[in-house]
Amino acid sequence: TNRTFTMIKPDAVEDGHIGAILEKITSSGFKIAALKLTQMTVADAQEFYAVHSERPFYGELVEFMSRGPIVAAVLEKDNAVADFRTLIGATNPAEAADGTLRKLFAKSVGENAVHGSDSDENAAVEAAFHFAGREMF
Ligand code: ATP
Repeated sequence: TNRTFTMIKPDAVEDGHIGAILEKITSSGFKIAALKLTQMTVADAQEFYAVHSERPFYGELVEFMSRGPIVAAVLEKDNAVADFRTLIGATNPAEAADGTLRKLFAKSVGENAVHGSDSDENAAVEAAFHFAGREMF
């Protein structure tokens, strides 16, 4: 409904895009309900992406997502999950629409700058994975 979970991934943090990405997010009508710089351990990334454990890219994905800091955030807006997936664009930046975060900031299908939850249920699970209740507003 009105909340989603996002991560600015290690590639975009390394490239100095935190500020530009947060500016696009807030100017697109999302309010920040939780926010932090953090790093996932290998075990954290394995658990976070357990749904992809049988996919051929799982090992690469876990290594990538744990290699450096990320920005984790909870975002609030009407229709947050769907509207945020529209804002980030297709998984593969080569297929992402103009103006989307992945078109602007992603390098490849693997190192694609930003995560967005794919359902309300997953948004709640992913937010709780990264934030304590007192860190969410
Ligand atoms: P996200 O869950 O990060 O918002 P998504 O829903 O667009 O992305 P999924 O298909 O759920 O994409 O894949 C999860 C993540 O796994 C992708 O964002 C990307 O980082 C990585 N990934 C997906 N496909 C590939 C691939 N073919 N090769 C390498 N990494 C991939």
